[in-house]
Parts: sequence; C-alpha cells; structure tokens
Amino acid sequence: MRIVVTGGAGFLGSHLCDRLLFEGHEVIALDNLITGDRAHLAHIDSRKFSFVHHDVTRFIEIEGPVDFIFHFASPASPVDYLELPIQTLKVGSLGTHKALGLAKAKGAGFLLASTSETYGDPLVNPQPETYWGNVNPIGPRGVYDEAKRFAEAMTMAYHRVHGIDTHIVRIFNTYGPRMRKRDGRVVPNFVNQALNGEPLTVFGDGSQTRSFCYVSDLIDGIHRLMQSDEHEPVNIGNPAELTILQFAEAILRLTNSRSEIVHEELPVDDPKVRRPDITKARNLLGWEPKVPLEEGLPTTIEYFRSRQTQ
Ligand code: UDP
Repeated sequence: MRIVVTGGAGFLGSHLCDRLLFEGHEVIALDNLITGDRAHLAHIDSRKFSFVHHDVTRFIEIEGPVDFIFHFASPASPVDYLELPIQTLKVGSLGTHKALGLAKAKGAGFLLASTSETYGDPLVNPQPETYWGNVNPIGPRGVYDEAKRFAEAMTMAYHRVHGIDTHIVRIFNTYGPRMRKRDGRVVPNFVNQALNGEPLTVFGDGSQTRSFCYVSDLIDGIHRLMQSDEHEPVNIGNPAELTILQFAEAILRLTNSRSEIVHEELPVDDPKVRRPDITKARNLLGWEPKVPLEEGLPTTIEYFRSRQTQ
C-alpha cells in the first residue's frame, strides 16, 4: 500500500513509519516539525520512504494514489499543548478535516490517533470505550481534549456520510525511545531527573494514577486496528495501573539513582485516575500488551542515558 502518516516525525509517528516500511508498504511522512524531529527518521534508508515538511492544517496535496492515511499529527505532551494551544486546536480540527478530505479524494482508508484524554478526568475507572468522559471544555487541557473529541466526531461523520473506511484508536499513556527529553511528560522527566541526580518532580501528592504502555505494543495494536472492520473507537494501552509516586520509586530503583522526590503543584484538571479497559481490543483484535514496565523501562532508560550529553 501507499500510506501517508501525518506527524510522521513524532514519537509514535516515526515508530509507525518503521513498522509500515517493515511490512513492505510505501510511506510518505508529513510533519511541520513543531514537536516532531527529523532525526527520528534519519535511520530510514529506503526508496519506499519520503518526508514532506508540511503543516497539515493547510491543504494536503499528494500526487498519485494513496491507499491509507494515519492522522498522528498533534502536540501530545500536556506541556506542549499548553504552550501551543491554538496549533493543538487547529491540528485536531482543521488538520483532521484536511486529512479526511485527502482520504475522500483518494478513496483511502483512515485511522485517527485519538486519546484517553477524550475521557477527561474520568469518573469511571477503568475507562471502557462506551464512557463519554468528563472534560472541562474551557480548562487549559480542553485545547487537546476537545480537539480530539471534535476529530472523533469528524471522523465518524466522514464514515457515515462518505462511507470512508475509518478507524479511531484511543491511545493511553505510551513510552519508549524517541520521546523528547524535555517534552515535559512524566516518563522523560523522571528518567532524566534520575539520571542527572536531580530531584524527581512529583506533581501533587502523587496519588493520581496512570497506566503505561510500551511503544511496540501500542504500534502492534494500531496495526491490527488498521486491518480490522471496526469503525468505532478502540482503547489501546496497558491496563497495569500505578500511582505516580509508585512510578517515581520504580524509576529510582531501575536507574539506581539516589535522587530525592519533591512535590510540585498539580496541573489544573490533571486526571486523578487513568486505566484502559481493553476488553474490546482483546476480543476484536486479539491484542493485549506483552511488554511489562520491568522490560520497557530499562530500554527507555538506556535510550535517555545514551543521550545524556546531547
Ligand atoms: N507528572 C509528575 N511529574 C512530572 C510530570 C508529570 O508528577 O514531572 C504527573 C502529571 O501530573 C500526571 C502524570 O504525571 O499526573 C502523567 O503526566 P504526563 O504529562 O506524562 O501525561 P498525562 O497522563 O497527564 O497526559
């Protein structure tokens, strides 16, 4: 297939490009590089790969046939989308519209990278796909949450009205090599703080929970979803839930660090719990995560250790 990946130079986008090339597809990666990094694609040496520097909120022009589009462009770290609120709203809304327009024009399949943030600060734990969420539309996180909710609505409308073969993955916290060192998310923050002997900054009392999925598991789930007939959202994530304080302790243990833990203010609307209900992915895709934290974290720590001087 000839496949377009928006956000192809991002953390997940670049891993997705690798997997698609491995499967033998031709891949065109689009990215405006505001949070993506061309270096994530530098290892690719294939005539089947091309990169286009483009902002997908503007009209997307691709010559020739396109069989499938993955729409992965968006700032995804809370720090990034708080700094880039308008770009985040635009890529989720205008960017999704343009990517769907390309799918319609080319008769291509489409997969939207949505998010567990569509559940907001959830009042149900774990979160099944049937939960409609608890989102503050005007809070600082609303720029990401509402853009992705709009993107889901737009994707379903293109499916219903134009009959496009669309898919929606709700991605839960994911980690692994190629996260940006300073993207502000908890995994790069804690790992780099521990490696540098700096205090680990736990926001609030650290009792809020998250569930971390290793990137290869996530990409495998997305690849299966692409091949399925499912049009409604599917959660992909690792259901192993822990508090942020427990997570900080795990990082200290795995890095053999003697850093202390300090507490900083909890960001506004920071979800108190988050854990995917993956029953649907299990039944529909035969998917479940394989890589536990004890395996995925050491690989991730090694990645950041090898970049300590950069
Ligand atoms: N967090 C933290 N210290 C940090 C960065 C994040 O305690 O240095 C917390 C954050 O408040 C949240 C959790 O870790 O409760 C996960 O944050 P992240 O930014 O990775 O993404 P989120 O899951 O909130 O989208």
